[in-house]
Amino acid sequence: MSTVANPAFPELVAPPAWRTVDLMSDLHLQAGEPATFEAWQGYLQTTPADALIILGDLFEVWVGDDAAAEPGFEAQCAELLRRTAQRLPVFFMHGNRDFLVGAALAAQSGFTLLDDPTVLVLHGQRWLLSHGDILCLEDTEYLEFRAQVRTPQWQAAFLARPLEERRALARAMRVQSEDRKRNPSMVWADVDTDAARAWLRQANAHTLVHGHTHRPANHDLGHGLQRVVLSDWDAAAHPPRAQLLCLSTAGAQRADLR
Ligand code: MN
Repeated sequence: MSTVANPAFPELVAPPAWRTVDLMSDLHLQAGEPATFEAWQGYLQTTPADALIILGDLFEVWVGDDAAAEPGFEAQCAELLRRTAQRLPVFFMHGNRDFLVGAALAAQSGFTLLDDPTVLVLHGQRWLLSHGDILCLEDTEYLEFRAQVRTPQWQAAFLARPLEERRALARAMRVQSEDRKRNPSMVWADVDTDAARAWLRQANAHTLVHGHTHRPANHDLGHGLQRVVLSDWDAAAHPPRAQLLCLSTAGAQRADLR
């Protein structure tokens, strides 16, 4: 039986002045999909939220912070994050696509990296935040890969390769992953209910908020516990998907950007 490691539950304690905190995940931003980038840009320039928390997979792929040091799509995203972070605090948790977002980009863009998981304490309420991939216990092949690529040794070796080589490797991995997705016998793992309940109890929280699965829903886990799943973004889809979860004293509310 798979089990999930017992993590620490670091807290992000919101200052009392924060009324609304926006959460988003799984935008999978990439140069070839400008509509989603533009929806995100429009949101960042106008949001009245007091803080923004990105719960991973903001980028379709991130091969190293040095990618944002040369002109191009990554630099454009870094600059947009920088301008946003001048106006409101921005937090970033890694997803499985952009786990190589590092301290250099955080410093360049002025956002704060969050551990996965982190407990957001807002108006006395405790929200357990995660990307969600680590709780998909049935996806054992992926979890092995994850354990490997999250080690400092693997990351140092990967980042030591030339940028163009890393970009080529990422493209090859993406083709592999697309092939896997087309396999009709492919079964999509979901967040394990027992593991989610265990995390919530250990974190002394009632609601787990995560992305990753691209299956937005509110799941009742019993005993007053719930699991809220964020939507992915695709502004070119019909209908377009560009959804936030807004946390406030009113609770959690989904907001579709149109
Ligand atoms: Mn993901």
